[in-house]
Amino acid sequence: MSEVPAAEAAANAKAALADVHGYAFQHDVVRNLICRQARYPDVADAHDWYMALAYSVRDRMLARWVASMQTYTAQDVKVACYLSAEFLIGPQLGNNLLNLGMEAEAREAMHALGQDLDVLLAIEEEPGLGNGGLGRLAACYLDSLARLEIPAIGYGIRYEFGIFDQEVCDGWQIERTDKWLQRGNPWEIVRPELSHYVGFGGYTRSETDEQGRLRVHWTPTRQVKGVACDMPMQGYDVDTCNILRLWKSEAVESFDFQDFNAGAYYEAVEEKVISETLSKVLYPNDEPEAGKRLRLAQQYFFVSCSLQDLLRLFDLKATPIERLPERFAAQLNDTHPSVAVAELMRLLVDERLLPWDTAWDLTRRTLAYTNHTLLPEALETWGLPLFQSLLPRHLEIIYEINRRFLDDVRRAYPGDEARVTRMSLIDETGDRKVRMAHLATVGTHAVNGVAALHSELLKQTVLHDFAEMFPERFLNVTNGVTPRRFLMLSNPGLARLLHETIGDGWATDLARLDALAAHADDPAFHDAWRKIRRDNKTALAARIEHATGIVVDPDALFDIQVKRIHEYKRQHLNALYIISLYRRLCRNPDLDTAPRCFIFGGKAAPGYAMAKLMIRLITGIAEVVNNDATIKGRLKVVFYPDFNVKNGHWVYPAADLSEQISTAGKEASGTGNMKFMMNGALTIGTLDGANVEIREEAGAENFFLFGLTAQQVEETKREGYHPARYVRDNDELRDALSLISQGHFSRGDREMFRPLLDNLTHSDPFLVLADFADYVACQERVSEAWRDARQWTRMSVMNTARSGKFSSDRAIHEYCERIWNTHRVRIDLAQP
Ligand SMILES: *Cc1c(COP(=O)(O)O)cnc(C)c1O
Repeated sequence: MSEVPAAEAAANAKAALADVHGYAFQHDVVRNLICRQARYPDVADAHDWYMALAYSVRDRMLARWVASMQTYTAQDVKVACYLSAEFLIGPQLGNNLLNLGMEAEAREAMHALGQDLDVLLAIEEEPGLGNGGLGRLAACYLDSLARLEIPAIGYGIRYEFGIFDQEVCDGWQIERTDKWLQRGNPWEIVRPELSHYVGFGGYTRSETDEQGRLRVHWTPTRQVKGVACDMPMQGYDVDTCNILRLWKSEAVESFDFQDFNAGAYYEAVEEKVISETLSKVLYPNDEPEAGKRLRLAQQYFFVSCSLQDLLRLFDLKATPIERLPERFAAQLNDTHPSVAVAELMRLLVDERLLPWDTAWDLTRRTLAYTNHTLLPEALETWGLPLFQSLLPRHLEIIYEINRRFLDDVRRAYPGDEARVTRMSLIDETGDRKVRMAHLATVGTHAVNGVAALHSELLKQTVLHDFAEMFPERFLNVTNGVTPRRFLMLSNPGLARLLHETIGDGWATDLARLDALAAHADDPAFHDAWRKIRRDNKTALAARIEHATGIVVDPDALFDIQVKRIHEYKRQHLNALYIISLYRRLCRNPDLDTAPRCFIFGGKAAPGYAMAKLMIRLITGIAEVVNNDATIKGRLKVVFYPDFNVKNGHWVYPAADLSEQISTAGKEASGTGNMKFMMNGALTIGTLDGANVEIREEAGAENFFLFGLTAQQVEETKREGYHPARYVRDNDELRDALSLISQGHFSRGDREMFRPLLDNLTHSDPFLVLADFADYVACQERVSEAWRDARQWTRMSVMNTARSGKFSSDRAIHEYCERIWNTHRVRIDLAQP
């Protein structure tokens, strides 16, 4: 055949492309059912239809993805790379339909094919690639980046097993393996051709090259291949589609044929098994030290793949390496990816042969670091022997960074050796360790906390010396959440009412919700508001009954605490209050009090015994309270199992009261608090994390405040915390504690809760008993306010109206302006 002229080939491709964009959706779904699922309509089950639908939606996104990548490559754009060990993205189908604006079209097409879209949505497995808030934040940020048309890549790990599924048996948490990939992930595009090699272990050797420069060669003992698994991240109502690129580990060779030929079959596959373990499983938070080696290996694995990939993309254009910070910004989501500082230095110095000073300047200008915690036990460190054996070259680089850095410290503070010791990247007290937060602070140009209070405390406590030395490096970016998933998608009733009342600009400019304030006293609007809230509560009640068998009344006050179970979050403070309320009702069955339903949800780390005991306490209280006829159903307690993003969709829109009761100074920001507020819940909370800003925005009159301030917490600890005093002075508290110790909530077992009681009454670092009395008094103000439905509704409306600040669009805008210097790039599908 003769060759087709280039122009003609291009025209043919363009015509075919129009076909890709233009297929009738229904036709597309059936084609995918046959061509991808190998099923025909008569025998397809709901999961086959879900897959066919998902592939059809994916096809629509891929057209936008290709247009986005073409545009980014053609123009000299700057790309934001978000490095995170976790991306808790939640179910994708509903969100993608929403962002593409094709939910109605899909619903109709599926209806015509005899399928109910809601049933198909419910089938989707959640990719549980994160523990909680930190991973969910990364996901919200990818949504906002795409919406704001910022070229961006999320880089992380494709865990084969994500966060465990939680069941409750006999009142205890049971962990079940998460098998989210069992039936395939239709959103993923595996790119075997796009892989990078990552070394571990071995030794280094230095030599002087012909030009008299010192060169270091690292010979690892083991190599692993990282394969890119991409997921499209579609922006809402724009053509931008960015990438979430997760790395899967593979053996460099599936079989070692030398071993195989010698008859050592098991040795031959062993290397493969070890290599694949790297991306096998997500580590739960709050675990005591154990199995750490694999965790550090995971971190380095994904960081190395990501930085190699970033440099590969950079090289697609023949640009001098000095321009790296003009083309890429890489954000470290907590210290989990902070080995990036050493790895980027290694890639630039050892592999690209740049002088140290040039490499250091480029590294610092490219990287930035977000701190997420002040809790000393959560600040990452790695013992030197472990670090040395896994990453010998990186340890050398860290030593060299440290040597130069400590010289600077000594120059700035002559004679202050105590300061040098405090600031060193190596902790020399006891077993020597690498301090990852110090590495991240020294090796980046910007360090931010995640709420105003947190950023201040960061400067005053864990990074105080650094803030003194480099004040210009420190800033605050208060977290945010995406209003697309957490309002439009999960609360369609409210979204519709907002649309009818104030138009629809709020979805992309959440500050416009402020216009709701004008309707805060309108009785007709109140009726509509209350009806939506009641429907949402009815829907949650149905799910609760399905999951637990407990029947709850949608007219009761829904008082909800959902988040990871942790002593600092103080679910046990809430539990103590419930016991005291229960006792009041027992003593006085005619007490005039409105019905309340306390709902808890959240996972405890499998190795965190105290957190698991807190779950057992809640389920124990539920068992007693829910079955006590004397209180006439005015109190219900529910532990709603397996809290995750998918279940959260039902929870946040159904809350009247949002429990944000952490010990002041301990919660960096919180984001659950923002999801509740947007959906019209009132907050009962301490002055902690973003609660401070939530109260500022909502107005003090629309927020239930209690508890010690961060400063008072510190003072109390300094003067010596004596929990026994609070027990002595408070009858209700004493009564609640003694009921627990008598086995009232443990079927007579007096030993079960002893560790928890001992902790609360002797050594509790989270000061639960110190805040008890004020919490109870505040809850009474809540009950009082609830009696006045009109006033409560007004406060609820005002919370939604004033939640604009907490959109992740606002947060991402700040990162772009103040840290990344990235700009919007318009993608036009019609004009590639
Ligand atoms: C938002 C969210 C969190 C974070 O909740 P906090 O109350 O901020 O701790 C945790 N898990 C899931 C599934 C979430 O959606």
